[in-house]
Amino acid sequence: MRFEVTTLGTGAALPARGRFPSAQLLNVHDQLYLIDCGEGTQERLRMAGVNMNRIGQILISHLHGDHYLGLMGLISSMHLNGRENVLHVHARAELKEVIDLQLRVSRTYLRFPLEFHPLPSQSGELIIDDPKVRVTALELTHRIPTTGFLFTEVSQLRRIKPEAVDRIPHFARTRVKEGEDLVTADGGVIANSELTNDPPPSRRYAYCCDTAYKPDLVPHLMGVDLLYHEATFTELLAARAKETMHSTARQAALIAKQANVGTLLLGHFSSRYKSEEELLIEARQEFPNVLAAEEGKTFFIHQQIMV
Ligand SMILES: [Zn+2]
Repeated sequence: MRFEVTTLGTGAALPARGRFPSAQLLNVHDQLYLIDCGEGTQERLRMAGVNMNRIGQILISHLHGDHYLGLMGLISSMHLNGRENVLHVHARAELKEVIDLQLRVSRTYLRFPLEFHPLPSQSGELIIDDPKVRVTALELTHRIPTTGFLFTEVSQLRRIKPEAVDRIPHFARTRVKEGEDLVTADGGVIANSELTNDPPPSRRYAYCCDTAYKPDLVPHLMGVDLLYHEATFTELLAARAKETMHSTARQAALIAKQANVGTLLLGHFSSRYKSEEELLIEARQEFPNVLAAEEGKTFFIHQQIMV
């Protein structure tokens, strides 16, 4: 089952050096979630071959322009493309005013329902409870209220053992996959454990952007399989990071190490860095399993192997 993230924009603040402002597309079992929507996101989606009308939910971490200025353009294009299915937008309540104002002054009456959901602010609070994934909030520390997102795959159904397939009538298969014992035609009972194996363990993905170094996130991130954490600067600019409430690559790696995550994915790079190499080198001094996000690249979220 698919669980993968495509980083559409990996730059901080200004589009520069081939990097675009923040946006990611998360695919969970073919349900599409857009995380942040910086300027140009719709072009990035088009280049990635994504049908924007398949995106069911959009989550906006905070209201700095590099995280949401692409949203009205995207909504407008969905409208012009004849979207009919509901679009859920999760963000700070002020964004609803921005959307409503823009629609009003342009006298646009959307052809599809747009449901706005104000984000909760405390870590652990539920944002989305979909059949395939639950999304909870991560309270971040930034210059304005900012929320990170923890995506937890909902446990899949149990797997029928190949040798047991012929013992289970077709009509009973779903119940057996859900964990029920099988009652046979003659009234006997076959224990579920004889018929099925455990489902694959559920996977988790966390998005922490933008945030200052925040060690109290660690308990919420313990053991996640893939952690996207901003790394706007290197330690040479630690003072600048502190002042602007961003993180250094080393700080991102410290969070990954303390939370024992599977893989750390760095992003939100300042335009001063020509390549991500020096950020990667710095992070790897603290935590070995680090990757740098790239425009248009897809990262598969695998169950980490606990050693
Ligand atoms: Zn910001």
